[in-house]
Amino acid sequence: MVQTGEPAWRGHQIAEAVYRQWVTEISEITTLPKSLREKLVANDWQVGRPSIAQTFRSVDGTERYLVRCGTETVETVWMPEGDDGESGDSTEDSGPVEPAQGEAVQPPMLRAPSFRLLSGERVGDHKSRQTPESGPSELKRATICVSSQIGCAVNCQFCLTAKLGLQRNLTAGEIAGQVVSVLARHNVEVGRDRLNLVFMGMGEPFLNYDNFMSAARLLDNDVGLRPQRMTVSTSGIVPGIERFAQEPPEIRPKLAISLNAPNDAIRTEIMPINSKWNIEAVIDAVRKLKLRPRERITFEYVLLGGVTDHPEHAKEVARLVRRTGLPAKVNLIAWNPGPGIPYKMPTPESVEAFRASFVQAGISAFLRKPRGRDIYAACGQLKRTVEE
Ligand code: SAH
Ligand code: SF4
Repeated sequence: MVQTGEPAWRGHQIAEAVYRQWVTEISEITTLPKSLREKLVANDWQVGRPSIAQTFRSVDGTERYLVRCGTETVETVWMPEGDDGESGDSTEDSGPVEPAQGEAVQPPMLRAPSFRLLSGERVGDHKSRQTPESGPSELKRATICVSSQIGCAVNCQFCLTAKLGLQRNLTAGEIAGQVVSVLARHNVEVGRDRLNLVFMGMGEPFLNYDNFMSAARLLDNDVGLRPQRMTVSTSGIVPGIERFAQEPPEIRPKLAISLNAPNDAIRTEIMPINSKWNIEAVIDAVRKLKLRPRERITFEYVLLGGVTDHPEHAKEVARLVRRTGLPAKVNLIAWNPGPGIPYKMPTPESVEAFRASFVQAGISAFLRKPRGRDIYAACGQLKRTVEE
C-alpha cells in the first residue's frame, strides 16, 4: 500500500480482509474506499490465497488437498477429530485421552490405494459449499496438517516426501494460505471451533525457519489461531531449535522432535541427518526452550517393523526420555507404507507392547491414529501421487 502512495494501515485492512474474512477479490474489501478498490484493480493488484486444486477424501473423513502454489502444488491435510497426536500435551480440556484399543493399527494395505477425486476447486468456491461432515452451526474439532516446503532435503529413509528431494521453500503466505483455504472450505468459526494446527506436512520447517515462523505469527495475529494449539515437528535441525528457543514462549508453537530411534546407531541408519546432529545435540538444544506452564515436548517415534519396534527399544527410549529430564510425552506412529520404501509395518502386538512398556515406565505415550492411509494422507505419505 505504501508503494501505491497509501498509508501503511491500509495494508492492515487488506490483511484483515484476506485472513479474517477470507475475501478473495479486492472489490469485496468494503473497509477500503470504493475509489481505492477501483484504483487497485485498475493497477492489476490482486489479493487471494492458494487455491485447492484437488481434494481426496478418505473413508475416515480425512481430506488431502493439493494446494496450488505458483506452478506447483503442495499437500495439506484436514483430519476431523484430530489424530490423537495432540493428546496429553495440555491442549485438551479434559486431560489425556487414551485412544481406543485396536484403533491404532490397521491391517497392511494389500493393494495400491484407490483415490476418489472430489473436486477441482477455484478460489472462492467455499462460499457455495457445505462439507459432508459439518452443518453450519455444529462445533467442529479438527487438526490441519500444513506443509512448509515442496519436498524435503532431509532424506529420512522411511519417508515418502524425502523421495521428492527439496524443490523449494514455501513463502509465509503460502504456508499460512494453506490453512486459510482449508478453514474457508470447512466454514470453520475461528475462536469457537477446536482447531489444532500441525506443521508436519511436507518439508522440514526448521530448514525454512523465517518463513515458517512468519506464517505462525500471521496465523496468530491475523487469522486468530492460538500458538498454544500449533505444533511444529522437526527432524532435529539444531540451529533451528536454538533459534526457536529464543522466541517468546507465548508466540511460538509447541515443539515435537522426530526421535524415531532408541540410539544413535539406529537413528543414523534411518535418519542420516543424525550424523550431523545426534540425539544428544538435539536434546541439548531442546533444553534451551523456556516452556509454558504445563507445556510438554513431544517425542515422535515411528515404529518400523523389525527395525525400531523391539521390546528392548521401548525400554531404551523410555530411559532416554527420562534422562532428558524434560516434561515430555511420546507419540507413537505405526509406520505408514509407501511405494518403493523398503520397510515393514509393525505388528499390532508390537505396537501395543511398545505402548504398554512406556506406561510401565511411567512415561506418557500415545498412539497416533493413522489417518487417511487409503488416500496417502497419513504421516510420511505426502508426495504428489496424482498429477493434475
Ligand atoms: N520434517 C518434519 C515434519 C514432517 S514429518 C519432521 O520430520 O519432523 C512428520 C512426522 O511424520 C515425523 O515425525 C516423521 O518422522 C513422521 N513420518 C515420516 N514418514 C513416515 C511414515 N512413512 N510413516 C509414519 N510416520 C512417518
Ligand atoms: Fe523430511 Fe520429515 Fe520426511 Fe524426514 S520425515 S524426509 S524431515 S518430511
